[in-house]
Amino acid sequence: MDQRSATASPAGWARLLPIPVFLVLFLAFFPGLSQTPAWASTAQIEQLKQIPGMAPVVEAAQAAVTVAQEVAQPIPTAPTSGSACAQLLQHPRLELRGGPSYPDGPRQDLERGVVNPRLCQLLVNLLDQQPDLNIWVKVFKTGHFACVNGSQVADPNDPNSPGCRISDHFGGNGVDIFGVTGPVDVFGPTGPVSANNRAAHRVVEWLVQQGGHTRPHQIIHPFVDIPPQGKHLFPDLEHHDDHIHIGGFD
Ligand SMILES: [Zn+2]
Repeated sequence: MDQRSATASPAGWARLLPIPVFLVLFLAFFPGLSQTPAWASTAQIEQLKQIPGMAPVVEAAQAAVTVAQEVAQPIPTAPTSGSACAQLLQHPRLELRGGPSYPDGPRQDLERGVVNPRLCQLLVNLLDQQPDLNIWVKVFKTGHFACVNGSQVADPNDPNSPGCRISDHFGGNGVDIFGVTGPVDVFGPTGPVSANNRAAHRVVEWLVQQGGHTRPHQIIHPFVDIPPQGKHLFPDLEHHDDHIHIGGFD
């Protein structure tokens, strides 16, 4: 028997160990595009790094997820004329007004093509089918944290922060409606979204009736009389008392 190959074989396997560890970590991190998988805490990942030789493997897997995340972002292109997103840019009953530090944010997000066309189509359908309502969109992507509200992260604007759950807004799949205005003889006082705005209530009633391809994944709103459906469609008076959040698509 060749003595060298008999002793070289275990060392060879040891040298190959980082490859499966890297792959397991990459696949674990990738679904949430986070550097901490759902089944391990940040502390456990740090412990894994303490094992001799493992730190570079963990860091390589985290770096690979960062690259994959950038590749996964669609390259923004301006909406084509006549598309749903282009229609929103000149819709007479849609106000596109961001917060004080990003007043043109919603308009620029549409112009740059970062908003999901299915989300644009949903808003076009809403405006078409509710012809007595005016809608104010304050946020698509610009002006919103990268991580969802409640993520325990050091920097909620950094999608790579450990523990960050990436918001639908970050990928252009979310919209926050802060105002719905309708005729006072039909709805009473309307304007800013609140639990008392009956025109905004009409919007949520319409949203929850949508089905199939056009149905948004998340609808969070301030109306406690609209029954929750699953874990993504519910009233929330803590973070959504002043707006309707629509996010994502199944
Ligand atoms: Zn939102």
